[in-house]
Amino acid sequence: IEERFDAIVIGAGMAGNAAAHTMASRGLKVLQLERGEYPGSKNVQGAILYADMLEKIVPEFREEAPLERRLIEQRMWMMTDKSHTGMHYRSDEFNEEKANRYTIIRSQFDRWFSKEVQAKGALVICETTVTELVSDAYGKVIGVRTDRDADTIFADVVVLAEGVNALLGTRAGLRPAPKPENVALAVKEMHFLPQETIDARFNLRGDEGVVIEAVGTISKGMTGMGFIYTNKECLSLGIGCLVSDFAEKQQTPYGLLEAFKKHPSVAPLIQGSEVKEYAAHLIPEGGYKAIPDLFGEGWVVVGDAAQLNNAIHREGSNLAMTSGRLAGEAIFQIKSRRDPMTKQNLSLYKTYIDDSFVMKDLKKYKDMPHLLHTNSKNFFLTYPELISTAMDNFLRVDGKPKLEKENASIRSFVKQRSLMGLFGDAFKFARAWR
Ligand code: FAD
Repeated sequence: IEERFDAIVIGAGMAGNAAAHTMASRGLKVLQLERGEYPGSKNVQGAILYADMLEKIVPEFREEAPLERRLIEQRMWMMTDKSHTGMHYRSDEFNEEKANRYTIIRSQFDRWFSKEVQAKGALVICETTVTELVSDAYGKVIGVRTDRDADTIFADVVVLAEGVNALLGTRAGLRPAPKPENVALAVKEMHFLPQETIDARFNLRGDEGVVIEAVGTISKGMTGMGFIYTNKECLSLGIGCLVSDFAEKQQTPYGLLEAFKKHPSVAPLIQGSEVKEYAAHLIPEGGYKAIPDLFGEGWVVVGDAAQLNNAIHREGSNLAMTSGRLAGEAIFQIKSRRDPMTKQNLSLYKTYIDDSFVMKDLKKYKDMPHLLHTNSKNFFLTYPELISTAMDNFLRVDGKPKLEKENASIRSFVKQRSLMGLFGDAFKFARAWR
């Protein structure tokens, strides 16, 4: 390719597609490069799509995007090896015509999103891995090289939307490599079942859907969680924990997944299913304190590559789409003023993102990743077990006086964590939540 582009976008995931769509629809000359055979072929997500953030990019997406089910119910489980204590929220308000959250299958969704990007005029080339960022003598990024040919492709600005591994940015010295305690490794399977079986097992009608998210002894004392999402004719089921915890606890993701599937609360939901896909992928979970520089001379970084992921609320794709969109808008503004893509000018992207929910949410939970990582045994083993014992005590009718049983529950909490420990944990958790 010998032309020069206004922008090169590396990666055709959520962030890259959002950036490319935003810039191309405003008339910028955009090249998007994707290493996968097609957009989405390499991408893994649960997957919940947050409609609001996509609507800001493709307002009429509901008419054409491949959506699975509208989410009307969320179940949150705290699990022990034999039980789960749950909190469910189901509301017919979520059954609104323009639903707020949907399940999607990324390989199908990303392909559709990319077609929208191409329809806006961006040139999208797949099966092309960007191998290197090219800089001028002053360190300004001026283009990229790919595995297709040795020539440099030039652009005014490069948008790094390469996902969580962020190899290019790291190799170019724009950022440090993500640390093992800041990324989770998640494994996921697709369990196929007839639609009516899913409807009956999850109490659903039509295109209604349910999400189950689970923490507890299933992660063996590591910081992590499991999930089950309903699609039309399959369930996405998976579990993930911090990479540093896997190494320290000598556990394997596959071992956790097998145990999760055999759990008495999970096994009946997937009974008789046919497993057709297995995937493993990293998730950035370091939060606010792990965010690298977001812009520099001739480049910006968006989505997972920028660690923009809210692990507490299990939101990633929406932060990716929003950061991609805001980077695209900033680049368009700079371009329309005919200003150069210098670090100083590109700081406009940071201004936009600081002002958005992305940075505000991540800032709110800035201490949470460290708290959960350093107290994983208490939060993911001890408390789920204590809560399960208390629930069993509360519900079992065995002739013992209720007061005696309540006192036994309180004693088990104090014995395991001590009064100071209980107050300390509650205080630390409340402070990190603020
Ligand atoms: P990606 O989607 O990873 O896209 C990066 C793209 O760049 C890929 O297509 C890749 O092939 C390409 N690429 C990489 N390097 C190069 C290169 N050198 N040259 C060319 N192309 C390159 N988020 C949610 O909002 N809801 C969920 O339910 C949810 N569930 C999840 C469940 C799991 C198991 C996982 C792993 C993640 C989940 N997430 C969820 C997070 C979400 O998937 C990510 O936040 C989101 O995909 C980030 O988008 P992105 O565009 O930054 O990165």
